[in-house]
Amino acid sequence: MVALRRHLQSRQRAGIRLVPVGEAPAGKSSVGNDGEHALTRPSGDLVAEKALAINAQTLDELLAAIGDCRLCKLCSGRTHLVFGVGDPNARLMFVGEGPGRDEDLQGEPFVGRAGQLLTDIITKGIGLRREDVYIANVVKCRPPENRNPEADEVAACEPFLKKQIDLVRPEIIVALGKFAVQTLLQSKAPISKLRGSWHRYHGIKLMPTFHPAYLLRNPADKKLVWQDIKKVISELRGENP
Ligand code: SF4
Repeated sequence: MVALRRHLQSRQRAGIRLVPVGEAPAGKSSVGNDGEHALTRPSGDLVAEKALAINAQTLDELLAAIGDCRLCKLCSGRTHLVFGVGDPNARLMFVGEGPGRDEDLQGEPFVGRAGQLLTDIITKGIGLRREDVYIANVVKCRPPENRNPEADEVAACEPFLKKQIDLVRPEIIVALGKFAVQTLLQSKAPISKLRGSWHRYHGIKLMPTFHPAYLLRNPADKKLVWQDIKKVISELRGENP
């Protein structure tokens, strides 16, 4: 921790903008991006930043290590880096694809129309509060025009998600949509084949299901997601010994 602080302080003295450890808003983590230092950053710093992220002991340390990340081209179009939100000790974690327009503007995952649907699943379906779970995405910065994240962007950002999961250590992950499912399960199988059955991610039970944005376009498939969520509820209640 002391070494981490010293490193962060030395980087700040060097003019590299970071969010200080412990100063993220409670229950919400976002980093503004004003584009400064993009061209002046020491090239070797990217490696140090990633190593620092992987060594983080808390979500706040991880957020500080990610800082004003420029590891992939998505950094150039973001308003906010959308890190994650919720209970750092949540039993249940949702993982989506990446921020959309509303999320990019507000710095919080799943706050647009699809986010409202996810919130309904959490509150009305599962009976938890949104702040009882943890919510994150595979990529932390918005792809332009909400296009799919590209392979190099997923590869650059994935270690941050893995570290988030490692720190939250939920009992259950619900992976929302193709990119989250295929990234976490390292599978090319279509979501339609993977959803509805339990899988394992590093010993954690993982339920793949459709992304809420897909459900907005295909409301008839809400019943399939409800089938998947009922399995999650049973698991949370310990009804599946
Ligand atoms: S998407 Fe991830 S790797 Fe790319 S700039 Fe944003 S935080 Fe960095």
